[in-house]
Amino acid sequence: MDRETGMTKRIVDVLVPVALDHGYSYRAPDELRLTAGDLVRVPLGSRAYAGVVWADQAQPDQRLDNRLKDITDRLDVPPLRDDMRHFIDWVADYTLAPRGMVLRMALRMGEHLGPERLRIGVRLAGPPPARMTAARTRVLALLADGLTQSKSEAAEEAGVSAGVIDGLIDEGTLEALPLPPEPAARPPDPGFCRPDLTPAQQAAADVLQQRVGAGYSVTLLDGVTGSGKTAVYFEAVAEMIRQNRQTLILMPEIALTAQFLDRFAARFGVRPAEWHSELSPRKRARTWQAAAAGEAQVVAGARSALFLPFADLGLIIVDEEHDPAYKQEDGVRYHARDMAVVRANISKIPIVLASATPSVETEVNARRGRYHRLALPERFGGQTLPMVEAIDLTAEGPPRGRFIAPRLAEAVKLALERKQQALLFLNRRGFAPLTLCRACGYRFGCPNCSAWLVDHRFRRRLVCHHCGFAMPRPDACPQCQALDSFAACGPGIERLAEEIATLFPGSRVLVMSSDLVTSVERLRDELREIEDGLVDIVIGTQLVAKGHHFPKLNLVGIIDADLGLANGDPRAAERTFQLLHQVAGRAGRAEGRGEALIQTTQPDHPVIRALVAGDRDAFYSAEIAAREKDHYPPFGRLASLVISARDRALAESHARKLAAAAPRDDRVRVLGPAEAPIALVRGRHRFRILVRSPRALDLSAYLRRWLAAAPAPTRDLKREIDIDPMSFL
Ligand code: ADP
Ligand code: ZN
Repeated sequence: MDRETGMTKRIVDVLVPVALDHGYSYRAPDELRLTAGDLVRVPLGSRAYAGVVWADQAQPDQRLDNRLKDITDRLDVPPLRDDMRHFIDWVADYTLAPRGMVLRMALRMGEHLGPERLRIGVRLAGPPPARMTAARTRVLALLADGLTQSKSEAAEEAGVSAGVIDGLIDEGTLEALPLPPEPAARPPDPGFCRPDLTPAQQAAADVLQQRVGAGYSVTLLDGVTGSGKTAVYFEAVAEMIRQNRQTLILMPEIALTAQFLDRFAARFGVRPAEWHSELSPRKRARTWQAAAAGEAQVVAGARSALFLPFADLGLIIVDEEHDPAYKQEDGVRYHARDMAVVRANISKIPIVLASATPSVETEVNARRGRYHRLALPERFGGQTLPMVEAIDLTAEGPPRGRFIAPRLAEAVKLALERKQQALLFLNRRGFAPLTLCRACGYRFGCPNCSAWLVDHRFRRRLVCHHCGFAMPRPDACPQCQALDSFAACGPGIERLAEEIATLFPGSRVLVMSSDLVTSVERLRDELREIEDGLVDIVIGTQLVAKGHHFPKLNLVGIIDADLGLANGDPRAAERTFQLLHQVAGRAGRAEGRGEALIQTTQPDHPVIRALVAGDRDAFYSAEIAAREKDHYPPFGRLASLVISARDRALAESHARKLAAAAPRDDRVRVLGPAEAPIALVRGRHRFRILVRSPRALDLSAYLRRWLAAAPAPTRDLKREIDIDPMSFL
């Protein structure tokens, strides 16, 4: 009973976006008329939170009633639908992340919730003020055309404070008026510019269009690079727009895909709504609302877009579905492609996975008929796939201290003579991965991590790629005080740039890697420069490997194919195959036959042989057989537990106790604890436990039982659980 009104209030569970697995009970004032899914504001501790009514409490505990707090109010946004709440529950159960943290991903709607801040515009309305200042003159010059401009933008553009504009309003020179809210996205037009599809493309598009609106299905759109996968799935998107339902297009790195947004605009007349981590808070709030209200018909986004609360999602597309960037490695550890399939299943809608080099998981599902395969085996316009050759570094390697073999240098020379572009690929940022003292052998290592410092010459720093530690290179060796004794070991892309400048003076070179790009805008400009032929030689990391279409690029040189093959990662072969295949696929997409040269010391490695022979299926068959034999995914399940602490002995002993507490089950193998390959990161010592089970076992449930019985981590200990790990470092 409520003492003031004498009425019984309902009690509901509200899930709050913090690291808690369960909701808290609150009293729900009748006048709010709350139902499950409503977004509400609640007090928690000393703060107010936006949360979601997760469930009615079946049997409210009357004794608790008087101690419960009231829900403050209800937020003016659409409720989280049943399927979305179900999805959040599912992801939390599967990943073992606290439910509140998964909810948090769905509520990332910008700084402020609720009705949007009113935007104020200003325009010229009266005579100039009696007293003129330089600042006032600038404002009046800006608004001289008499048009209305947003007040904050006008202040920014004129370089004055808001107070200057307020002063001009007070004097009657300017007037203030409310502006309509900015639309997040104009509606795309399905008939705007429909391309003529080839018969093969049309056949695939027809099948996709039939699946749209026909419940849950998974389709692998399996097409070689340049076959027109985008053009094909756009037809399914067009159908969705006609049916007035929403589409989500997931991309591995939306920030890099300016070309994609332009192509979408060329097909549908407008760009899609964008969702990624670099959106401004206001844009984020608008886009979130537009997705929730059904106003944004198509959202293209990075993995986090999967948690947008769409009003009526009808189709999901996962482009480059094999890309490792879909795995989130911190916070809630989830694989966006796998969770996208789950979301499609829960919401009973179709999902399309597109790739030229499907993940082994997806390939197995397609071979077993669980996923439909739609194949596009030919490049658009009759372009042939690039010719791939290996350069055996043990037989025809570069001269000492250099990294470009004579045969590759010769090919670059030829490309330049033909006025074509060349791309040199090396997945290593910086100048050199290791710096040592020639006099005493001292090596620069990170004080916080078990890693060498990478020499970044452009930034004039030695940098740790794990924790970001950076220091200028000293003049003398810290160990033996020798001067000028440092040697750079191994190549990075900056060092390649130096070699290219010596080999081809006067050529226009662009070096691209994530640490050199200062902003998404700058990156988009650089990609456009390549597209427009303003660059002769591109030197880049995997940043340039993904999805771009460079018409003048005919030669690809892979500097070190062995890089990815060496470590003990069970997915090393798959990942190297996909990456190199994708990089090679950048060549010869528009004119002439492309060529890819792969520098390696292992020309007989199955990955290299498959690339040279262009025999994708042989690679998959061998890889699938190996996984099946070893009970690796998708034939078994894996989970990893990383235990870390500043104190090494503490981390190790806790890891041992944890492993000892594993419930006995003959089907489950617990391996370790073992010191992690990168044993020290940011000053924390790391130990790993790897858990393997058959596919049919619910490994998440097993882990939950295990952790419930295990000793709780104390203060300094951290326990990270990763289901379906992609990284084994
Ligand atoms: P993929 O995604 O399979 O690598 P894309 O969809 O990027 O292939 O297509 C490669 C290139 O071919 C793009 O520039 C695209 O515009 C062009 N293209 C593909 N299909 C057609 C078509 N039917 N008509 C005109 N251009 C096409
Ligand atoms: Zn470090």
